Amino acid sequence: MSTHHTSTDDADPRPKAVLFCPDCGHESGLPGDWIVDEDPGRTTHTCPACDATVEERRRPEPMLAP
Ligand SMILES: [Zn+2]
Repeated sequence: MSTHHTSTDDADPRPKAVLFCPDCGHESGLPGDWIVDEDPGRTTHTCPACDATVEERRRPEPMLAP
């Protein structure tokens, strides 16, 4: 008996942009409680919990239209 849950995103109220800290697993949306350091052409987010650097990689990925 396998309870396979169908992955439907329409019932997920979470924001699209969410960053995860690779070090401590801190999770926050954008904008969240990240320490943002904006440089020309690059935005770096620092984890407020463990001070690790979390880079937001901007990929030329087409957004999934609902
Ligand atoms: Zn962290």
